[in-house]
Amino acid sequence: MTDTSLDHLICPQCHAHLSHGAAEMICQGCDRRWPVINGISVFSTQSPNGQQSVQPHSATGPDPRMADWKYFIPLRHSNVALVLGSGTGAVPLTLAAACAQVYVVDSVWDNLLALGQIREKQGLQNLHLAYVEGQSLPFPAGAFDLVTFDQFSQDQNGSPFTETAREVLGLLKPGGTAQFTLGNKWVRQGLLPQRGAVGHGMLSLSGYEQALRTEGFQSPQVFIPLPNHRIPLYFLPVTSPEATRHLFRALLPLIDTISPEIKAANRLRYLLVRFAAPFAKRLPTNWALKLLASSYIAIARR
Ligand SMILES: [Zn+2]
Repeated sequence: MTDTSLDHLICPQCHAHLSHGAAEMICQGCDRRWPVINGISVFSTQSPNGQQSVQPHSATGPDPRMADWKYFIPLRHSNVALVLGSGTGAVPLTLAAACAQVYVVDSVWDNLLALGQIREKQGLQNLHLAYVEGQSLPFPAGAFDLVTFDQFSQDQNGSPFTETAREVLGLLKPGGTAQFTLGNKWVRQGLLPQRGAVGHGMLSLSGYEQALRTEGFQSPQVFIPLPNHRIPLYFLPVTSPEATRHLFRALLPLIDTISPEIKAANRLRYLLVRFAAPFAKRLPTNWALKLLASSYIAIARR
């Protein structure tokens, strides 16, 4: 890892440049020292809370399908990307293969450790990991071609979405692309509770669309990943009502052809959809989608 590859990191407290050593980064503005532990830049007043080593996710690595939204965005090899919330590691690893530099921010130490182990094993020079806890993000404004945000990998005290959207917009270069993986507030609120979901900052579909427009994003597009955002088999483009209605009605009758693995993992929703399938033609699509969508994928440009 060379000094120049970490150009995008700045001091979160005074926003000055950092000089990089093997064990710490020294702020050129306020002289503050930020440690580097296991190759992870640590921006926190406390030591990272976690283990010294973790079991790798699996022998084959994380399931890459979680990053399949990449087909909707213009990825270039010269791109510098920022991943807010590493999740399973699928998004950082997918982007590292497609972009020049990828920065990953997480407040879960073990996620970064696991990703660091894969980075080492695969010899990835362009994947930079930062543990950020109780600090602003250590990046200058307008630095990134792509910023991805995963609401499911944020902690319980996640910011309201409007704040997140504003922060992401500020980090993007003009013309840059943002990708958001977002929870559906209606599903979260008990009808079809979802394991591992976090609550704060979750909105409805129209709430997200409105927040993105209000904060100044251009042409936001929203997709429903089905059956879920972890293993998306279909993306329903909800910003195009005609396409959604058509796809929805075409997909419903196919419900029994999905794999037993998916049926078991989404049992309640599977049963609901199977029950509703015969009425698909008369079903109000918007209402049905609100119940079906465990999450949304939003893509928007600065
Ligand atoms: Zn500083």
